[in-house]
Amino acid sequence: MAQIIDGKAVSAAIKEQVRDEIARDNIKAGLAVVIVGNDPASRVYVNNKKKACEFCGIKSFEYALPEETTMEQLLELIDTLNADKNVNGILVQLPLPKQLDEKAVIERISPKKDVDAFHETNVGKIMIGNYSFLPCTPAGCMELIHSTGVSVAGKECVVIGRSNIVGKPMAMLLLHENGTVIVCHSKTKNLAEVCRRADILVAAVGKPNFVTADMVKEGAVVIDVGINRLENGKLCGDVKFDEVSEKASFITPVPGGVGPMTIATLMKNTLTAAKIQKNEQ
Ligand code: NDP
Repeated sequence: MAQIIDGKAVSAAIKEQVRDEIARDNIKAGLAVVIVGNDPASRVYVNNKKKACEFCGIKSFEYALPEETTMEQLLELIDTLNADKNVNGILVQLPLPKQLDEKAVIERISPKKDVDAFHETNVGKIMIGNYSFLPCTPAGCMELIHSTGVSVAGKECVVIGRSNIVGKPMAMLLLHENGTVIVCHSKTKNLAEVCRRADILVAAVGKPNFVTADMVKEGAVVIDVGINRLENGKLCGDVKFDEVSEKASFITPVPGGVGPMTIATLMKNTLTAAKIQKNEQ
C-alpha cells in the first residue's frame, strides 16, 4: 500500500518559510492577480491565491475585469503593473475569454514579474537550467517528489502530457535532476507499456481515472496533477487512486496533493521576484 504524499503539509511548510523570511528581513512583496470574466473555477483559484498572500505577508492586488474586456484594455493594465514598484509579481489567471490572445498577454508581462514562469524568456531560462522562477505546478511536483526521499537521479521518469504549463517543464525539471525522461501524449503508442517502465510517473492529462493499476510499476512514485470535476461535483485526479495506491510506493491524492503546491510555489516566486527587484534598485 502506497504512502500518501501530503501536499497540504508540504505546501504549508513552504508558505511558512516564505512568511518567516518576509517577516525576518522586512521584505515588501506584492502580487497582482488579474482575472477576466466569471469562470467559477478561476474565481476559486484567485481567492486561494489571495488567502495565501495574506498568510505570507504578501500584499495582493486583485483586478477583476469584465468578460468583454478587450486586448487593448488588458495590455494597458499589464503595462501599468509592469511599471508599478509595489507590484513584484503579475499573474493573469488562465483561461482567458476567447477574444483575448493568451500568448500575447503572457509575453507582455515583464519577465522579471512573470511569477508563473510562462514568458518565453523564462521558459528559455528553464530550458538551459539558469532560472529565477520555476513554473508553479511542475516545481510543486518536484517538491513532492523530494518529500518522499526518493532521488530522481538515474530513475526512469514518465510524464503523461506535454502542455507548456505542466508536461514540458515537468520533463525538463526531472531531466535537470538527472532522471531519464520520457514524455507521452495523445499520439504515444503502447502508452500502458511505456508507463510501466516508470519509477516516477507524473500524470498531467486532464482525464479522470485515466491511469489504471495495469499502467503502473510496482513501487513507483505516482504524482497526479489532474484536477477533473465529476458530474457529482467532486474533484478527481487523472489517476485511479484506489487501485494505483495498491501498487505505488508513494502517491499524491486529489485534492490535497499537487494543487496546494502550485500556490505555495507562487508565493515563493513572488518573494524571489521581490528580492531580485530590490537588489536592482
Ligand atoms: P492540456 O489539456 O493542455 O494537456 C493535456 C495533455 O495530455 C496533452 O499533452 C495531451 O496530448 C495529453 N493527452 C490527452 N489525451 C491523452 C491520451 N489519451 N493519452 C496520452 N496523453 C493524452 O492540460 P494541462 O497540462 O494544462 O493540465 C493537465 C491536467 O492538470 C488538467 O486536469 C488540469 O486541470 C490539471 N492542472 C492542475 C494544476 C494544479 O495546480 N494541480 C495546474 C495546471 C493544470 P496532446 O499534446 O497530444 O494533445
